[in-house]
Amino acid sequence: MVNQEVRLCGWVHTVRNHGGVIFIDLRDRSGIVQIVCREPQLIADAEKLGLEYVLQITGRVDKRPAGSENLEIFTGKVEIIVKAINILNTCKTLPFPVDTHQAEANEETRLKYRFIDLRRPKMSRALQKRHEFNLAVRQFLSHEGFWEIETPILTRSTPEGARDYLVPSRQAPGEFYALPQSPQIFKQMLMVSGVEKYFQIARCFRDEDLRADRQPEFTQIDLEMSFVDEVDVLRLVERLIKSTFKSVFDVDLEIPFDQYAYDEVMSLYQSDKPDLRYKSFLRRKFDDLFAQTQLRVLKSALESGKSIYALTIPEGAPAAARMELDRNVAAAKAFGAQGLIWLKRNGSTWESPIEKYLSPTERAELLKRTNPNDLLLLCAEEANLADRVLKEMQRHWAALLNIRPAAPFALAWVHGFPLLEFVVQEKRWQATHNPFTAPLEKDRPLLKTAPGKVRSHQYDLIMNGVELGSGSIRNHQSDAQKELFGLMGYDEAGAQERFGWMLEALAHGAPPHGGIAFGVDRIVAMLLGEESIREVIAFPKNQRGICPFSEAPAPVEFQQLKELGLKLAY
Ligand code: ASP
Repeated sequence: MVNQEVRLCGWVHTVRNHGGVIFIDLRDRSGIVQIVCREPQLIADAEKLGLEYVLQITGRVDKRPAGSENLEIFTGKVEIIVKAINILNTCKTLPFPVDTHQAEANEETRLKYRFIDLRRPKMSRALQKRHEFNLAVRQFLSHEGFWEIETPILTRSTPEGARDYLVPSRQAPGEFYALPQSPQIFKQMLMVSGVEKYFQIARCFRDEDLRADRQPEFTQIDLEMSFVDEVDVLRLVERLIKSTFKSVFDVDLEIPFDQYAYDEVMSLYQSDKPDLRYKSFLRRKFDDLFAQTQLRVLKSALESGKSIYALTIPEGAPAAARMELDRNVAAAKAFGAQGLIWLKRNGSTWESPIEKYLSPTERAELLKRTNPNDLLLLCAEEANLADRVLKEMQRHWAALLNIRPAAPFALAWVHGFPLLEFVVQEKRWQATHNPFTAPLEKDRPLLKTAPGKVRSHQYDLIMNGVELGSGSIRNHQSDAQKELFGLMGYDEAGAQERFGWMLEALAHGAPPHGGIAFGVDRIVAMLLGEESIREVIAFPKNQRGICPFSEAPAPVEFQQLKELGLKLAY
């Protein structure tokens, strides 16, 4: 466009006054272009500009003089010789710079001024990528014959096992809607309605204690299909993931993904969502090895039903400086663990804070189970916590030892989960996932004799140690569903009261069906290399569930409460 007249709009990213000439970097979401002001009047105008002023300029595109090109930016070979500057708006002093080269402000400030934060090129790109991903999903699924159908936000409690967000009804005082934890029941209803293939990029609401990286509302790609079995769903999802990862993030994946039975993955990795990038780091349970331990921490962990999980890091010992190990212990504590015990194997001896407590038998057994130069990290915690701690250690040590995974994203399916788990206090069974999941046909007779042994048609998609999605083939016959409700402690009336509408629908010609849902926030964050999903959500809540920008949640007027028939009781 050299020599052409242009009109550009955007924000003042930087101003550089070189005396006699002023350079402005003008930015919009597509990037930056250099504006040059030379004439005295324009220089006078430009001197009034502040960062993030909103401008419309006219000027002529010029080739930059040789040597002053900036090949790091797309427009770096040209500049605009400005003819007129029109200030569309001014900007108050910024709470933090938009310029990417500066250190990031703290998150609370970034969230409070999210409108500025989202101007930063990194954040703008995240929004763009998220849009592209959603679009690619929509295109893929539409092409496969899926219909995008919205399901209600004001609804009844849906059983995903979390607490509901409740919305009081004005018209029926004392009654409440619940925000959906997922569109589960409605998507199943759509199958009964003959939709055959449904999807939705659905907002889900779960009132859980906000652990590190949870959001009260999050987005799932939710889908359901009729006349399918497990394999049909897995193959469809694999193609969806492969195609969208490639087109949006340029990531190549091999399909079909590896598939593990739940029992297998647990015995291999002590986790139902192992990080398969680092298979050389063994994770084992050493409960038997330490059964007679004299060490109080391990002993009391075992007594309280916890296990001793051992992560082996081959060649870790020589690299494990004391300071590094102290940092590991501190990191484990930050996750909420009581601690972390390290043992460095040096030939056939051990260096470890617990070295002197090891009995000869334990010593011999440890040697048998390890190789020279192994670093062992022991975590004696409840399974989920140990899993999180040891995964972090895995990632940390892989980086430290420069172990490059074969592929940056390791995806796999885990299936054949137990259908039910026993809740001792309540003396009843509960679904390990959602209560609509079908048992494996061959395990069905066990429902009468050993419900805990029944495996289900649930499947989880895992990536780099994180569960991306989860779904199942459902009970499509009312009686089969009722039998399960019975085990879950609902008598006929109870099941009718809570899920009557669903049972009724299943009894009216429901086709076999199944589906899955996976998390958009998590996928986009991981593919952009972000640690936190908050980096890819336009307006996330902070870790206390508060939106620092709008300051929600907030008190409401007395009048509003009155209309709802509510009185605050604290
Ligand atoms: N509704 C399930 C969930 O949100 C997903 C599914 O089974 O389709 O986890």
